[in-house]
Amino acid sequence: MNGIGKNIIMIGGGLGGLVTGAFLAKEGFRVTVLEKNPIIGGGLQCFYRHGVIFETGMHILGGFMPGDNLHKIFTYLGILDKLHIRHTDSNCIDSVTFGVEGDTYLLPRGREAFENYLAQRFPAQAEGLHRYMDAMWALSEEVDLFYLRTDESNMLREHSREFLMPADEFIAQYITDPNLAELLAYMNPMYAGVAGHTPAFIHALINVLYINGSSMFVDGSQQMADALADIITSAGGSIHANDPVTDIVVEEHLVRQVQTRSGKTYVGDLYISDIHPCTLLTLLPEKAFLKSYRNRLQEIPNSYSSFSVYIKFKEGAHQPFVNHPCYFQEKHGYVWQLYEYDEASFPRGFMCITPPTHHQGKWADRMTINCPMPFSAVARWADTVTGHRTPDYKVWKECMLQRVLDKLEKIRPGIRADIDFCFASSPLTIRDFYGTKEGALYGYNRDCKNMALSQLPVATKVRNLLLTGQNINLHGICGVPLTAIETVESIVGRGSIVKKINEEYDRRNEI
Ligand SMILES: Cc1cc2nc3c(=O)[nH]c(=O)nc-3n(C[C@H](O)[C@H](O)[C@H](O)COP(=O)(O)OP(=O)(O)OC[C@H]3O[C@@H](n4cnc5c(N)ncnc54)[C@H](O)[C@@H]3O)c2cc1C
Repeated sequence: MNGIGKNIIMIGGGLGGLVTGAFLAKEGFRVTVLEKNPIIGGGLQCFYRHGVIFETGMHILGGFMPGDNLHKIFTYLGILDKLHIRHTDSNCIDSVTFGVEGDTYLLPRGREAFENYLAQRFPAQAEGLHRYMDAMWALSEEVDLFYLRTDESNMLREHSREFLMPADEFIAQYITDPNLAELLAYMNPMYAGVAGHTPAFIHALINVLYINGSSMFVDGSQQMADALADIITSAGGSIHANDPVTDIVVEEHLVRQVQTRSGKTYVGDLYISDIHPCTLLTLLPEKAFLKSYRNRLQEIPNSYSSFSVYIKFKEGAHQPFVNHPCYFQEKHGYVWQLYEYDEASFPRGFMCITPPTHHQGKWADRMTINCPMPFSAVARWADTVTGHRTPDYKVWKECMLQRVLDKLEKIRPGIRADIDFCFASSPLTIRDFYGTKEGALYGYNRDCKNMALSQLPVATKVRNLLLTGQNINLHGICGVPLTAIETVESIVGRGSIVKKINEEYDRRNEI
């Protein structure tokens, strides 16, 4: 379809809606983004507490090293130069500490350096480690879109035996030392890994992405949402925030219009949903989809959630700025069970970062700590909403916050004394803020035991309604833009956007 004179109505202004909208704007479509929250961005959104900026759901980026997929995608979109991004240290992209044993690993950037470092720490495993790294890169090569290759760019082609093997079993094929096997899974909070279920290819894509180089936004992730919104509005589109879609009118398998809370109606040639499919169902008439499809959407398991703690340090506090994420696990043996909730031992582990600012010096002014937590931990307050939680919930939340600080003290002794203020969010916050079922960190979970249930096509039975965003294919800073390409190419032609991205990148590099 040619975009000239065509209108797109985008339901949801998260990363998925905005990248999809930006690609379409470049194709000549007029894109109208409808966002429920007062500020666009979803997971990219930042918020202020006592005048201090905090990020909600985008702390660590991969794919921004020159030549990597997001470097190319945002070059094509024309905003790479506008984004303030700081790469993590080349000699340490992540530190991983196992508390009781006191082991800390400082993992360097790049396949060779990463492998050499671990081979030195686990010499008896060097050969298996080498084969594991080869196998992991080979798995990533099976996903053409990850490398922005046009041919076969979908997940449904024939894959190797390992592609859909559980990630923990994939690692165990090569690594016999349980400590190394566990260490190699340290990134699983970045993909909500579950033993026996998370497919090896997800493990491979996330590891390859970050081992090649990771980055952080300087002064927060809102800048990306705003830059994407500029692409849409500069092409004649518009952004309408603070006005949730409340109703999608469907007749004869076509969306006729959408309505928002303020009573406005929007009509387009195509409608794209960036919201959680279970939330989408609540906006559609029941007859829009077959019962079997509705049931399927409702039954797909969601990824686990997070209990997050946000800290502002006192002026003059000497808490070091650390230019990479720090993963902490209380002891060995839990890497695949970090999300299991037990009130007495919470949290079993976490990832913390000191987000950089444009005037970043030696000392950090803030810290964010994300602890995996299942929705079941807060299910007893499921019928409360933000701003109207019950007193016992607030007591529980404060208690969990203190537990997180207790564990944090193990890697940062004395940190409490340097805190100016701190506060926490729970899976309920994430659920209400994004409109995501069960506050799922990454939307639907991918389960190699049931891939048919874990991946949705971008097209729906409602012929002018398409899907985008983290629930459809892949999540996060890399997965959502790749999914956006699939959604856009289903409109403008298979392979056409990838081709343009590569052509633009090659053109710029020739200059
Ligand atoms: C705590 C946390 C930490 C994370 N950290 C990282 C990280 O470090 N790196 C990384 O790569 N990924 C991270 N993620 C994941 C990442 O944030 C998501 O994968 C990504 O932002 C999803 O984008 P999306 O557009 O699919 O969904 P969303 O960002 O959820 O966007 C959906 C949008 O739809 C809006 N919406 C919902 N209902 C309606 C309605 N009825 N009408 C209109 N609008 C509606 C929502 O308000 C939202 O803006 C994190 C997520 C969380 C929760």
